[in-house]
Amino acid sequence: MASRPDCLFCKLVAEGEHVRADDGFVAVADINPKAPVHLLVLPERHVDTFRDVAEFPPEEAKRMLDFVAETAREVGLEDYQVVVNVGRGAGQTVFHLHWHILGGGRPFE
Ligand code: AMP
Ligand code: ZN
Repeated sequence: MASRPDCLFCKLVAEGEHVRADDGFVAVADINPKAPVHLLVLPERHVDTFRDVAEFPPEEAKRMLDFVAETAREVGLEDYQVVVNVGRGAGQTVFHLHWHILGGGRPFE
């Protein structure tokens, strides 16, 4: 899968510490957690933002959603938030599509 040498999250996919990894997707701990549990799901496929999600073949897009849900389940979360910031104006700072999983206690309990 094409990876961008200048992309922080392509680097994390290739050589980061993964909470979970499976067939094109990894989960990592957010370096600056905003909840007791704060994970990021990163697809190996580089797309800049969720706006470009149509670049995923349908089967891969489905597996990405499954991976998000399975990751939350595996770390013991039943109630949680899934957040995707789309574009700078919405708070996106890293331009490699990623899914935040936030949960585990206040304000989520
Ligand atoms: P966003 O603001 O939606 O683009 O989210 C980017 C997230 O990546 C932020 O929550 C950061 O704390 C997180 N982050 C930045 N660099 C790293 C890193 N090296 N490892 C893990 N998380 C990171
Ligand atoms: Zn990337």
